[in-house]
Amino acid sequence: MKLIVLEQGCQICNRAVKGNYEYGLFCAACNVLFRPEHLGLTKAKIERMMKKKEIDEKFSVPTTVVHAETLPEIKKEHEPQKKIITHFLASKQGAMVHASNCFFAKNIRNENTLVFSSLRDALDKGYKKCGCVN
Ligand SMILES: [Zn+2]
Ligand SMILES: [Zn+2]
Repeated sequence: MKLIVLEQGCQICNRAVKGNYEYGLFCAACNVLFRPEHLGLTKAKIERMMKKKEIDEKFSVPTTVVHAETLPEIKKEHEPQKKIITHFLASKQGAMVHASNCFFAKNIRNENTLVFSSLRDALDKGYKKCGCVN
């Protein structure tokens, strides 16, 4: 199968995509197959690219390919995921309890850090909730 490589063709990760007009253009990193039209490629454009630079190689069609029609969902998955709060932190010198992913919690010096596995524990000890805990 004759293929072209489109540098930075992937709409998700900006990596190169590989393929042709009939098959589509595939990003191996995202496992997503784009229709050439989605990437602004017409059949003629692809044919021109092929003439310029022919890549002839074995290109096995991946079995689990996500088609670009379902792209909005994939994009969501690629967004940085909200860190899950696993524990709560307080400073020995402070009055507030923070979620483990709170900006302020990261600023507490190690030797001053108190770790609570539940918010209840911290509140029982008299700590007040930071805005990050909700
Ligand atoms: Zn990609
Ligand atoms: Zn906080």
